[in-house]
Amino acid sequence: MRPLLLLDFDGPLNPHAADGIPPGYEQHEITEGAKTWRVLLNPQHGTELNQLAATFDLVWASSWEHGANRLLGPLLGLPELPTILWPDRTRVRRGSWKTPYVANWVGDRPFAWVDDEIGEPEQTRFPQQLILPVDPRVGLTAQDFGVLREWAGKSFAGKAFRPHS
Ligand SMILES: [Mg+2]
Repeated sequence: MRPLLLLDFDGPLNPHAADGIPPGYEQHEITEGAKTWRVLLNPQHGTELNQLAATFDLVWASSWEHGANRLLGPLLGLPELPTILWPDRTRVRRGSWKTPYVANWVGDRPFAWVDDEIGEPEQTRFPQQLILPVDPRVGLTAQDFGVLREWAGKSFAGKAFRPHS
């Protein structure tokens, strides 16, 4: 079973809390109807994510919902991805309001989850999975991509290619 890679947008791919434009990032203005958003994007993220797609099935887990495919993915060279929807974003007592929807969506598939608003509560809830909190001042780093590759390699490559004995 291929692992899923659940992708938050604001924070991991758009370091919205950064001071100015960090090295490697470009500022984009996105307009749809009467709305305009300013986002910071790093083209290297698109390259890295498309490479990870050899191992993971990429999924949007972003509050942009379908807007991620419509407005954001193309700017990073990403194909259209399945998208988790959040009908109700009521705060929960502990951890991310996304968690019940994530749990429902992933079923019994293994997954890695990158997001700037996850941490210990999610790791406790999903002990077998890779919970990767990202600093929204920095965004996904080369080190984070290394962690993702290593986790996928350890968890899946061996099983997938183990010869019959
Ligand atoms: Mg976020």
